[in-house]
Amino acid sequence: MLNDPRTHGLWEKTAPPAPQTQPLAGKIEADVVIVGGGYTGLSAALHLAEAGTRVVVLEAKEIGFGGAGRNVGLINAGMWVMPDDLPGELGPVHGERLLDLLGNGPRAVMEIIEKHQIACELTKNGTLHCAVGDSGRKEIEARAEQWQRRGAPVELLSAAEAEARIGTSAYQGALLDRRAGTLQPLAYARGLAHAALSAGATLHTGSAVTAAARNGTRWTIDTTEGTVSADWLIVATDAYSHGPWQTVREEQVHLPYFNFATVPLTDDQRRKILPGLEGCWDTVEILSSFRMDARGRLVFGSVGALRGPGATIHEAWARRALAKLLPELADIDFETEWYGQIGMTDNALPRFHKFGPAAIGFSGYNGRGIAPGTVFGKVLARHILGQISEEELPLPVTDPKAPPFRTAKEAWYEAGAAIAHFAGARL
Ligand SMILES: Cc1cc2nc3c(=O)[nH]c(=O)nc-3n(C[C@H](O)[C@H](O)[C@H](O)COP(=O)(O)OP(=O)(O)OC[C@H]3O[C@@H](n4cnc5c(N)ncnc54)[C@H](O)[C@@H]3O)c2cc1C
Repeated sequence: MLNDPRTHGLWEKTAPPAPQTQPLAGKIEADVVIVGGGYTGLSAALHLAEAGTRVVVLEAKEIGFGGAGRNVGLINAGMWVMPDDLPGELGPVHGERLLDLLGNGPRAVMEIIEKHQIACELTKNGTLHCAVGDSGRKEIEARAEQWQRRGAPVELLSAAEAEARIGTSAYQGALLDRRAGTLQPLAYARGLAHAALSAGATLHTGSAVTAAARNGTRWTIDTTEGTVSADWLIVATDAYSHGPWQTVREEQVHLPYFNFATVPLTDDQRRKILPGLEGCWDTVEILSSFRMDARGRLVFGSVGALRGPGATIHEAWARRALAKLLPELADIDFETEWYGQIGMTDNALPRFHKFGPAAIGFSGYNGRGIAPGTVFGKVLARHILGQISEEELPLPVTDPKAPPFRTAKEAWYEAGAAIAHFAGARL
């Protein structure tokens, strides 16, 4: 994307084309203007357009340029926070509401994909949270118990059962979450854009918003070449936020995360390694993730930025770690590589902000934005349509607040991941 193969890697190579869109030029009127062409903005646009609302999306670069086009493609149910801890963090009302909404998030994503026939390599076979060591086993046992108590279809697998599904004996078991799945993330974003356009939304790419002003009861949103006037404003810029909503970005600590995709595995290897195509990640603090794409390429990732010395260090680590995890892949070639920035909040939970009268947005998905972005986009649409009140939203309103030592923490995450990966394969 934008001629940089390290931004969107495999996903750029294999996604169906984006719809043809142009930069905004001149002045236009709308009911709702949405800033950001990722899952949150596109899902809001789709649901608003389906309800007959005049909606305009302004994306600074291209559809899926932010996290939506760079992620691993795990459609997770819930957040990192333990289910039992959520009511304590958010209060019982918002806590249980959020658990319910995000627990059902993957199903909402799958229904949209099926309804709009989005070609995005959807798999519905669940995800595996893989336990490393005794502490990892304890963590997944606690998660399993807490979700099962809520009636969620999660299952604790023994080491042998995990090995049969993954093809490695590295783990002391895994938590199988049958609600979850995988998809091709950029294809999903582009598919949402096609669906929103078909429903009547207007999309402008190459349209960075540079200014936002309230004029009477309406918003005036400026890009370099044009202006949109609208009753409502949705800010859906998350970790890639720039321009007037710098505060959204500054509230988060950016954690870099990279992926390498192998060449397609042989049929023999595919029969042994993830034959069920579950998406996987482990319980290690500097975690690793892996999954298959539709052609049988293994996508293997971890924390770190593929720039400067990190590019060489992380690639060397990925080769060693993959060889240790799945020795039959020791000599396999990497076909593509890419990385992006995950926006982390101080309590690992997303945020709902108001940016003025009739100006709203969700952000801060902590590396779990496919399902939350999709369902929160729909929630924003329903709120604007008057179908749910502010009191019924899944999160309380908060003001963006920058955490202390944000830039130092970001530098430490990037350097710390490089040091850890330089020191050796961790499995
Ligand atoms: C490497 C990586 C791996 C991840 N893995 C997973 C995963 O496996 N599963 C999962 O669920 N989530 C994952 N995530 C998180 C997920 O990708 C994000 O949470 C999700 O993309 C957020 O969606 P969004 O629409 O809110 O924001 P984004 O997708 O980031 O879109 C925001 C858009 O806003 C645009 N923008 C910003 N400022 C302006 C402006 N001033 N004017 C116009 N446009 C603007 C940006 O260009 C961008 O396209 C991962 C993220 C990364 C980076």
